[in-house]
Amino acid sequence: MIVMLKAQKAVLSLFQKKQMIPEENAWNYLQNFTEEQYQPVTVDIPMKHSIYNIAKHKGHTYLLYNTLFNSMMTMSEHEFRQYEKIQFSDLSLVEAFTDNGFLLPEFTDEYQRYDYYQGILNNQLQDYMHYTIALTSRCNARCIYCYEEGVPQFDMSLETAEKFTEMLCKSEKQIDITWFGGEPLLKTDLIQYITQTLHKNNKPFDSGIITNGSLLTEHMIASQFPEWGISWVQISLDGMKDEYLRRKCYYSSRTDIFEHVISNIESLVKQGISVSVRLNMDAANSKECIEVAGYLKEKFSETQYLIAYPAFLEDAANALNDDTQRFSYSGQVYQLYPPGNSLLTNIPKINNCYFQQQGAFVIDTDGSILCCERDIGRQKTKIASLQTITALDTLHKSRASFPAVRERCRTCAYYPKCSGGCFAAYGSSCQYDACFMEKYKVEYLLNKMIDF
Ligand code: SF4
Ligand code: SF4
Repeated sequence: MIVMLKAQKAVLSLFQKKQMIPEENAWNYLQNFTEEQYQPVTVDIPMKHSIYNIAKHKGHTYLLYNTLFNSMMTMSEHEFRQYEKIQFSDLSLVEAFTDNGFLLPEFTDEYQRYDYYQGILNNQLQDYMHYTIALTSRCNARCIYCYEEGVPQFDMSLETAEKFTEMLCKSEKQIDITWFGGEPLLKTDLIQYITQTLHKNNKPFDSGIITNGSLLTEHMIASQFPEWGISWVQISLDGMKDEYLRRKCYYSSRTDIFEHVISNIESLVKQGISVSVRLNMDAANSKECIEVAGYLKEKFSETQYLIAYPAFLEDAANALNDDTQRFSYSGQVYQLYPPGNSLLTNIPKINNCYFQQQGAFVIDTDGSILCCERDIGRQKTKIASLQTITALDTLHKSRASFPAVRERCRTCAYYPKCSGGCFAAYGSSCQYDACFMEKYKVEYLLNKMIDF
């Protein structure tokens, strides 16, 4: 047996204790924990498998990975069978399984403990504020899959932008902005106003933009992006030229928009701006999206500033409802653009989704403050409004108000990497629509490891 990644004993001990440490003391406990404090679980305590274990095998070699404790071991089939039955002919093996969280005391309610652990971290990691700013709900395209379809089209007014910027300047926290829309580049005047005011007030910030990339210009990338603090750009390419144009349905009659976007990507990476190309897949374009990834890989082989990543369209007419196909198509993109191994080792891991993050808010065009970007123009997750608050730093989301995590997520082996997925997709007709890509990435990485 080889232990490749060890569980962090401090975190593990939170799950092994019969009595939970009060939440208000738990952060100090985690910070000051020393290895000597760790009390191994004794063999006389009834054990069960962690629900967050994932097993892989190739031939007679087995690999076990725990998504919560980030522990990993390889073992022989004989050793694996003992773990599987929790019956050991070799008692010296027990320690490796318990000390790495693969076996836990039977009394542990892992979901409940993990929820408690998330609560501890959630109350600590609040030194930054992330704002997704919907500058407009208008767009120069009409993507066939757009979730903002039917949302009334408005621009943020200068008055609302002024109110927001005034409060940003008074914030004492680190500021991170995502420029969002609609198509945010239809409102560069507001980006200019907000960022200039922040500069004038010596208020540092970082920003990135989610755009279709068609309105970018050389001048904007070279001169304005540095002023706007933009260090990353996300652009969707859902097919090669013809399929791309068919899916985007631009209002413009230009036929070279695909080439134009590619040339803009070229300018961005030359400027050292990170570009993430999102490949929105359904059953009709998955193979073409893989072709796009191959095309980008070849065209931009020299740069480290570009990655392409798969995403699956929800509730679309041609949605990929078969998870085996999702694993296969995403795996083909990951072959070209592999996810980082750090996904397997990052700890603590909480709240993938901005909805659940204490310091993350969406500012809608009318100044409403929302929890979820999917809610722009709908206001179901509205918690306040710029017009009625006096400071941004005191905004707070109550954990109790978060949607309940689905039953199937609570016992899903990927839950600690995915946090229960996208709440906004819980109502979708396909049960996999909510799953974050972490699930597919973890599988890809573990399959690679066992192959190796
Ligand atoms: S619930 Fe879904 S759409 Fe809303 S912030 Fe989270 S991941 Fe994004
Ligand atoms: S959303 Fe999907 S991957 Fe995430 S925890 Fe739920 S079932 Fe698992």
